[in-house]
Amino acid sequence: MPFPSWGETEEGRDMLQEAAEQLVQAAKLLNLDPNLANRLRFPKRALIVTVPVRLDDGRVVTYTGYRVHHNITLGPGKGGIRYSPTVSLEETTALAMWMTWKCALMNIPFGGAKGGVCCNPLEMSRRELQALTRRFTSEIVMLIGPEKDIPAPDMYTNEQTMSWIMDTYSMQVGYSVPGVVTGKPLVVGGSVGRREATGRGLVNLIIAAVERLGLVPEKLTAVVQGFGNVGSVAAQELAEKKVKVIGVSDVYGGAHNPGGLPVDDLIRHVEAGGKVSEFPGVIPVSNKDLLEIPCDILAPCATAGQITRENVERVRCRILAEGANGPTTLEADAILQQRGVFIIPDVLGNAGGVTASYFEWVQDTQKFFWDIGEVNRQLQRIMLGAFQEVLSLAHGKGVSHRMAALMIGISRVAQAMRFRGLYP
Ligand code: NAD
Repeated sequence: MPFPSWGETEEGRDMLQEAAEQLVQAAKLLNLDPNLANRLRFPKRALIVTVPVRLDDGRVVTYTGYRVHHNITLGPGKGGIRYSPTVSLEETTALAMWMTWKCALMNIPFGGAKGGVCCNPLEMSRRELQALTRRFTSEIVMLIGPEKDIPAPDMYTNEQTMSWIMDTYSMQVGYSVPGVVTGKPLVVGGSVGRREATGRGLVNLIIAAVERLGLVPEKLTAVVQGFGNVGSVAAQELAEKKVKVIGVSDVYGGAHNPGGLPVDDLIRHVEAGGKVSEFPGVIPVSNKDLLEIPCDILAPCATAGQITRENVERVRCRILAEGANGPTTLEADAILQQRGVFIIPDVLGNAGGVTASYFEWVQDTQKFFWDIGEVNRQLQRIMLGAFQEVLSLAHGKGVSHRMAALMIGISRVAQAMRFRGLYP
């Protein structure tokens, strides 16, 4: 029997290659000390674990899981946990690297981490997912903790997953530790507004971009790829701002209606187990075709590698707002930029999630909880502050928004590393 592979995938390699290339380009623009630039290409540590789970049919299947700390110079590691068949060491490392730049860009005292288990959660029962989560948590317990590394939800993990992680960790230490994860339900130490924060933060920036471009929300159309935590909230917030949402999708396909989609009804339909493409009265489209629907605002909120050299010529939008991590390749980004598309890059666009996760961790640590007004006010302040910084650097240096965002994040981490010095 061959030794099982550690889950190397082509998608994972592409993502890590993309993340590394972004670092190289930003480091060049920053004229960064090559010693620091080289160090930042590598994660600080990466843990690979095997996670045996007894399935409902009695079989025991061994899954592979990962937790990667890319850089923890600025504080404890922070980053989501993903359950997906695409999860690999390379994908997790790329996502951890992006978390490092994102936290630094937002001026949040966290380092970059990420984790995941390679599995197909759509085929697993609740009991199987709970067993997987608890065993995975036990296997990575030496890395996580409120002062060490604080996981959060990502693709196919949610408030329930975070509760199981918090409980498993708490059982091991013997007392309740809400601060070990963020994205928890309110009753176990979650924060109001955290679940909505990624989509809401993205829409805060879209509206800032709309104003900057002299446009009016009521006259604009939007297409949102991915209808989970990030995409459904983004669609809902856009509709609330009177933008007409004409296309949305989930992993099974998309729903299109040039006259506008009823976002709240679609959310209820999906919560009841439906697919967006099967919603009454919509035109079903593939995920590939969805990205090519002409619109003013395109928000990829699903997964990486969606806008590439292959389809960029057919992507027609004025604002590209990235809720997902890594949805656009650097090649496609350059072409869109040449065409004058206003890009809100992922490290900035989806940073509302980690920002509200930071608020949740602060509230758990202080044991003092904020109201929704405070959470949304602080979220808006931090998001718009970073947006202005990115725009002014991009303008001042003549670089893309993506490069400007990366440059700010990378230079903060590099400065901190220089002050702290090389150990020993
Ligand atoms: P989720 O599991 O709640 O939702 C994912 C959605 O994308 C679902 O509707 C799913 O059906 C769809 N999807 C999955 N694979 C797809 C594919 N290949 N093509 C089209 N649609 C697909 O996940 P989420 O938390 O909303 O995360 C979505 C993206 O946002 C991920 O890239 C994640 O890394 C990023 N992100 C999430 C957060 C957060 O707070 N949850 C924060 C920052 C970034």
